[in-house]
Amino acid sequence: MRVVVVGAGPAGMAAARTAADAGAEVVMVDSEPEAGGQYLRGRARFEHPGVTHLKNTEVWMVEGDSLHLRGPGGARLLRFDALVIATGAYDRPLPFPGWDGPGVITAGAAQALAKQGVTLAGRVIVTGTGPFLLPVATALQDLGSTLVGVYEASSPTRWLREAKAITANRHKIGELASYRKVLPRLETRTAVIAKHGDRVTVAKLDSQWRPISHRTEHADLVCVGYGFLPRTDLLPNASRTHDFLDVDDHQRTSVANVYAAGEVTGIGGADLAEAEGVVAGAAAAGRRPPAKALEAVRRGRLFAAALARAHEVQPGWQTWLHPDTTVCRCEKVRLEDLTDATSMRELKLTSRVALGRCQGRICARNAAELTGVPFDGQRRVIAVPIPLGELAELPEDKS
Ligand SMILES: Cc1cc2nc3c(=O)[nH]c(=O)nc-3n(C[C@H](O)[C@H](O)[C@H](O)COP(=O)(O)OP(=O)(O)OC[C@H]3O[C@@H](n4cnc5c(N)ncnc54)[C@H](O)[C@@H]3O)c2cc1C
Repeated sequence: MRVVVVGAGPAGMAAARTAADAGAEVVMVDSEPEAGGQYLRGRARFEHPGVTHLKNTEVWMVEGDSLHLRGPGGARLLRFDALVIATGAYDRPLPFPGWDGPGVITAGAAQALAKQGVTLAGRVIVTGTGPFLLPVATALQDLGSTLVGVYEASSPTRWLREAKAITANRHKIGELASYRKVLPRLETRTAVIAKHGDRVTVAKLDSQWRPISHRTEHADLVCVGYGFLPRTDLLPNASRTHDFLDVDDHQRTSVANVYAAGEVTGIGGADLAEAEGVVAGAAAAGRRPPAKALEAVRRGRLFAAALARAHEVQPGWQTWLHPDTTVCRCEKVRLEDLTDATSMRELKLTSRVALGRCQGRICARNAAELTGVPFDGQRRVIAVPIPLGELAELPEDKS
């Protein structure tokens, strides 16, 4: 039996190891040169008997029981008996005046560069929502940046309602201690709402994230992170909730023989991703998942649900924008260019939002919230950009 795992992050590696240990022939595919995903970034040194790791290889479509791959050896098809999708997430910025200019990047990009040892700038602000802001700020400070502030838009009191999730995940509180150097710079109910040159407008927010007062600060770099959006493109027709893939307690998706693990199913950190990988790998290989991993998933999901509630993006961010604020960077679409559409498709065709190179990964969710059209998720037929010539060379389907 062949199990194919797409993604070599904490979830994918755990799925691959577990499926191989259960006797399956395993192929793990990842577009990066080394395993590790976002958390370990090439430092995983992955090697496991029974697992073939296809590096630098993108999966651009799932068709029936085969995957379309693009890699060093060109384009090819890879057949599977069971498939595990462990493609992770990408981070979500919110637009504000000046976010499309120099000196603004996503918090995830800052973290990725920091993990490669790149010192980013002199004066740095990290702004957004969620615990991810803390490791980013810590990494930047450790590399010599001057941390002006870490601005968390939500109120910490939201966590007071989450006693059950905190009790089940006490080790997460311990993790806070590793960020103690940046905690003095943390300000809650606060966000960067504009940047022009090195002048940054910082606002105190109400509970809906509407500004209630402003001040000006100076920073060379603003790192923006308002949570994560899942990379679910490979399963456009799978059942999902808020764009995360729905799975049962064996990580089965609604598509036959396809499992999902890690941040494609919800955002809960690398430890939850790994536990889900173990469950998915065992189930994909036809084995009963280990009780320890099932219990870790149960506890981790409590934390993930609490995280989603405590750091939910609030609608007041929409008041930070001016009519000429860029909403879609690829196609240079401004707020005032967004039309009165009734569907995402109509909005795209009439304003060109989400039609550029990122194909809406950065802007579609924000544009949907700004206009009130239903967000139809990341439903693309082709998951990664590929040259038209390669599509033209595919054998014709005669069926
Ligand atoms: C930019 C960024 C930086 C992060 N840094 C941290 C951090 O420092 N600390 C922390 O606790 N959490 C961090 N996170 C959160 C982190 O992603 C998770 O906690 C954890 O890595 C999730 O594991 P995963 O296996 O679900 O996904 P990931 O680790 O994201 O792994 C997914 C893998 O799938 C591959 N992939 C995706 N699509 C395809 C495709 N079509 N074809 C082939 N390969 C594909 C990717 O190359 C990637 O290696 C970060 C997230 C992001 C987006």
